[in-house]
Amino acid sequence: MTTITLVQGDITRRRVDAIVNAANSSLLGGSGVDGAIHRRGGPAILEDCRRLRASHYGKGLPTGKAVATTAGELDARWVIHTVGPRYSTEEDRSELLASCYRESLRIADELGARTVAFPAVSTGVYGWPMDDAARIAVRTVREARTAVEEVTFVLFDERAYEAFAAQAR
Ligand code: ADP
Repeated sequence: MTTITLVQGDITRRRVDAIVNAANSSLLGGSGVDGAIHRRGGPAILEDCRRLRASHYGKGLPTGKAVATTAGELDARWVIHTVGPRYSTEEDRSELLASCYRESLRIADELGARTVAFPAVSTGVYGWPMDDAARIAVRTVREARTAVEEVTFVLFDERAYEAFAAQAR
């Protein structure tokens, strides 16, 4: 059984085995949580990302996939980068958002991570409505077959926290 914990705050301050980053497919850094992780984690994360681009992901990491790097100076062993889908009113991309959580947990299992912190993937620049994103995130983690013991959703503000709390009840 995976325990789900909710906290409001900055994910870069969490002490866990793996911190998940809402990256973009370039893996070369961005705004929001991505920028915060690279700033606090230092240049080692970007170096790893550059190596991954050169070795495996010449065209970038596809949406819904996940990949791990060092966590640099963060209080974690790994950062798992996942690429959320941009929200669309024309097309249902829920399965891709669910895939971000599933694939991140699959990578966590490969690494042997037992505690994993997630941000609310796709709810910032990528525009996903918070309540719907929370529903998909909580349901996908609940249904996942994983050896991860604790998933912490780290919500940046009160509105996000309340949306996740409503789903996790
Ligand atoms: P995306 O491109 O996947 O939408 P963003 O980084 O823009 O990614 O936003 C994802 C979510 O992460 C948003 O809800 C945003 O408020 C939140 N966020 C931004 N900075 C942090 C942080 N330091 N810790 C936790 N969550 C954060």
